[in-house]
Amino acid sequence: MSFVPTDPLGLDELLSPEDAAVRDTVRAWAADRVLPYVADWYERGELPGIRELARELGALGALGMSLEGYGCAGATAVQYGLACLELEAADSGIRSLVSVQGSLAMYAIHRYGSEEQKQRWLPGMAAGELIGCFGLTEPDVGSDPAAMRTHAKRDGTDWILNGRKMWITNGSVSSVAVVWAQTDEGIRGFAVPTDSAGFSAPEIKHKWSLRASVTSELVMDDVRLPADAVLPGVAGLKGPLSCLSHARYGIVWGSMGAARASFEAALDYARTREQFGRPIGGFQLTQAKLADMALELHKGILLAHHLGRRMDAGTLRPEQVSFGKLNNVREAIEICRTARTVLGANGISLEYPVMRHATNLESVLTYEGTVEMHQLVLGKALTGLDAFR
Ligand code: FAD
Repeated sequence: MSFVPTDPLGLDELLSPEDAAVRDTVRAWAADRVLPYVADWYERGELPGIRELARELGALGALGMSLEGYGCAGATAVQYGLACLELEAADSGIRSLVSVQGSLAMYAIHRYGSEEQKQRWLPGMAAGELIGCFGLTEPDVGSDPAAMRTHAKRDGTDWILNGRKMWITNGSVSSVAVVWAQTDEGIRGFAVPTDSAGFSAPEIKHKWSLRASVTSELVMDDVRLPADAVLPGVAGLKGPLSCLSHARYGIVWGSMGAARASFEAALDYARTREQFGRPIGGFQLTQAKLADMALELHKGILLAHHLGRRMDAGTLRPEQVSFGKLNNVREAIEICRTARTVLGANGISLEYPVMRHATNLESVLTYEGTVEMHQLVLGKALTGLDAFR
């Protein structure tokens, strides 16, 4: 068999025909609906048509993709991962829309919600008619969510919710916000309709990363919620942390999409750009960069696939998700930075995708657990010693 530069290890052989069909469908959608426009969205710092995009993603089955029932596709974890990779190869903002919708907001309701909550929210969210967000981070509380200040107190059978959440993807366009709050019973999750009195979600502007993504503050001033707004199935931090583990799994794949797009841009450029009378890809220093990028890209995809198989088998551990997120996002950002150098000055232009991917990955490096948090998770797993505090 011949050597395929875009698949040097033959990893496509790991895919079933159904897996390949999912990948090809999502790739074709992103090529048609995202790639021609995303540089412009990025430059404007907007995601125009987000509702239409969400409906199209819903029609593709990409929202809550690996969940069962309630209009969800019931796909495998590997198929969900492949979709994340293809979406992030277009832009991390689109993958973030899908991750937050499916792996955070829908996953929380699907896993911990009552039957009524599932019936109320999930079919519309799976179809992309309703957008959801997930409010854990606060202005003063990030890596240590146990210290959150947002709180809900009982008033008769109702709950009164107060607090602020920060950096919330999809916040301003959501119909439902899954908000985590301190209560007398520990941290609980609430499915908050965003048209509730006292709830607002101003958009955060002036970001230099994930510009084609809606990021918001959530403000809750005496939001009165009925007793059945609380997610009955969980109390304590394991609620939000289990959702984050699911979303991080998608990032293990997605980050390799950003890396692939940047690698392929560099490879293409290296073959055609000439200096000193020949293509720059003919210089050993450029080849060393391309070879090293290819190593990390395909090792990362292999790692993602392995974790996907473990998730499908029900044997994936949170420490293994940390392993994947830490490695793949860190390597993806390095690939984008190296690709940027191959493109020289053109590397900083929005005409090419590499700088956009590199700056997007700065957010991906931080959200869903920073690099340092995942190092500490692995450090604890390796040594048995907790170095968090
Ligand atoms: P901090 O926790 O203040 O950390 C600052 C630095 O200190 C980091 O380098 C951190 O690793 C380090 N640090 C902290 N504690 C330790 C320690 N014990 N040892 C060593 N180093 C330490 N959140 C949501 O809830 N929902 C969302 O939808 C969401 N979307 C986001 C979208 C974007 C674009 C961004 C940028 C963020 C988003 N976040 C979201 C927030 C994100 O999850 C947090 O930014 C992240 O958890 C880190 O929190 P922080 O920014 O407060 O940093």
